[in-house]
Formats: sequence, C-alpha cells, structure tokens
Amino acid sequence: MIFQPPIPDEYMTLSYGEITTRIRCHKEQFGRRLVVLGHHYQQDDVIRFADFRGDSLKLSQLAAKQKQADYVVFCGVHFMAESADILTDDSVAVILPDLSAGCSMADMAEPEQLIDAWKVLADCTEDRIVPITYVNSSAAIKAFCGKHGGACCTSSNAQAVLEWALREGDKVLFLPDQHLGRNTAYGMGHSLDSMIVWDPVSEHGGVKADEIRRARLILWNGWCSVHQLFTVKQCEAVRNREPERKIIVHPECSWAVVQRADMAGSTEFIIQTIDAAEPGTKWAIGTESNLVGRLANSHPDKDIRSLATIQCVCTTMYRISPQHLLWSLDELAAGRESNRISVDEEVSKWARVALQRMLENAPSEAVAISRDCSQ
Ligand code: SF4
Repeated sequence: MIFQPPIPDEYMTLSYGEITTRIRCHKEQFGRRLVVLGHHYQQDDVIRFADFRGDSLKLSQLAAKQKQADYVVFCGVHFMAESADILTDDSVAVILPDLSAGCSMADMAEPEQLIDAWKVLADCTEDRIVPITYVNSSAAIKAFCGKHGGACCTSSNAQAVLEWALREGDKVLFLPDQHLGRNTAYGMGHSLDSMIVWDPVSEHGGVKADEIRRARLILWNGWCSVHQLFTVKQCEAVRNREPERKIIVHPECSWAVVQRADMAGSTEFIIQTIDAAEPGTKWAIGTESNLVGRLANSHPDKDIRSLATIQCVCTTMYRISPQHLLWSLDELAAGRESNRISVDEEVSKWARVALQRMLENAPSEAVAISRDCSQ
C-alpha cells in the first residue's frame, strides 16, 4: 500500500461550489489534452466530473484510445491507473489523485508470494499450470502471468479466459479473488471438489501435495472487502419478506451468496440488467453502495435497494475526493505531474502480454455467471 502525503490545508476549506468551478475551469483550459476517467464505484461528487465512466478495463481501453491526451486523471484505484499506464502511449501521463487509493484484494497477492507458490506447485506436479489473474491485481502479478503463459481476466470475461486456460494447460492458478474463480469455474460445470484454496501466508499454501495433484483449479486466498459483506442471511431476509424482489449480485460475492441470488454477473451486467428491467420491478443488489445508489436514482420507476442493510462502500475508492481531484489538476496546470503512475518497462511489457492474451481470447462483454450446476 502506498501512502498519500497530505495535500495543502487550503483545499479542505474550499466550498464544493468553489471546487466545482475550479475543476470545470481546468477541464475547459486543458480541453482534449486532459481525460478524466471515473470508475462506477466513485462517489457522486467525483464521478460527475468524469469524461467517461466504466469498469476498470473499459476505462483503461478508453484511456488508450485518447490519442490527443497528454494527461489521464484516473478516479479509481491504484491497479486501474497501472493498467491505464500499461495500455496508453508513453507520452501520456496517468495521474491517480490520491496514492492511498489502493485495493485490499490486489494487496492480497504479492509478487514474492506468487514466486514462492509457483515453485511449490511445480515441485508437486508435472501438470501444466496456467496462471490467470483478475485485473484487480498489481502490474507485477499481471506481468508474472504474462511471462508464464497466462493471462488476465475481468469479471465480464472470466469464463472465456478460464475455458482458454484449461485448453492450454491441465490446471489453473487463479489470483487473487477466490470467489470470482470459484463462481466462474462452478458455473462452467467444475465441481467444488476440483478446487483448492492456496493460502499464501500458510506453509505450503495450506494444502497437501496430493491435493494439488488432484485439483483442476487452485484458487488464491484473496477476496474483496466490499463484496464479502453480502451474506446468505441477507438473501434469506429478502426471500422471506419480499419474495417478488429479485436478487442480483457481483461474482466477487461468496459462492453461497451467488447460489442464493437470482442472477450474478459483472458490474456492466448488473447495470444492463437494471436498465432493461420492467418498470415496477423490485431489486436487491449485491455490489458497491455508490453504484447501487446511482442505479436507484436513475431508475425511479423501479424499486432498487442494496442487498445489505449496511453501507458497502469501497473505502479506498472513496479516497478520491473532489479536493484531491482539484489538487491534481492544479498540479498539472502548474507543470507538475504529481502522483504520476509509471509502471517499470519490463513489468509493463509482460503485463501487456497478459492483457493482450485476454483480449485476443476473450473480448470483454457483460455476461451472467451461471449458478445452476450441481456439485
Ligand atoms: Fe478492490 Fe473490492 Fe474496492 Fe474493487 S470494490 S477496488 S475489488 S476493495
């Protein structure tokens, strides 16, 4: 995790009106040289300044298309800004307004841990293992996967990437989100018995050599601190009180929650499903609160609420405040590229291989995760 030094106090005393005026003024003055990207989980006070909204990969791909841009200001988290830096030309400076905007899931897979795991796995089996990493991981983890014949995936194309990986090899090591790996593989028809969890902080990953030899999928013991807040109990409460309310969740939720939901799929899938839903329908959504709130506001003809009764906010995304966005733009206007995210050239080269392999084999699109397989 990287820490952001405090920005000058004066930003904390500005009114929201002053901040809005100054950000708009910068955007006008930079014109097409500046692109502001906003992830769906950003707070309303920030995302309203975004030129484009989307999930992490969609935003990085959009960034790569902005050939006229000198600066991409990424209102998201660190790994997303890294992906944008990897996919954009060297002449484009990618800026993260607050360096503390990390991702607890990405932090659960460190390169040294992966190198150690890879050695142990290779000692246990002669099977070919293909490493696949969710894009919610550091550039170094992506690079490892690219260098070792693997690829990246998103929550939209995880199934297509897993199908490719299991054609290429005998087993898959899936990082860092065990839930996305399990939910996707289960939806493809793989039994829970064919999956083991590799715990990077336990000796020998917490698994025995013969369990490794038997497994088809080795799931890294990582998870999203936001999506793990959705529980089976919440699903049952909705079912008991309002059986007509549909439950739709993100595949970063646990397998048990996904099995009790009516639908599960990527952020884009959730948005498209709600957009297409009939007026008067009722929904309980298991994903980040800012997105759920925006969906509720933009669909007043539907009854939309969070599956949880508590706020499920991504606190690291929340680090990107209007004050930090303004400070970043002030810095750029003063000729300083503060908080520029630059990925090491060699890491960038191999991470790009993993990203390109994903795009060649499984273009990203909104898809549902199947839930109807028997163990
Ligand atoms: Fe990471 Fe979860 Fe936040 Fe996404 S919602 S950035 S996976 S902690």
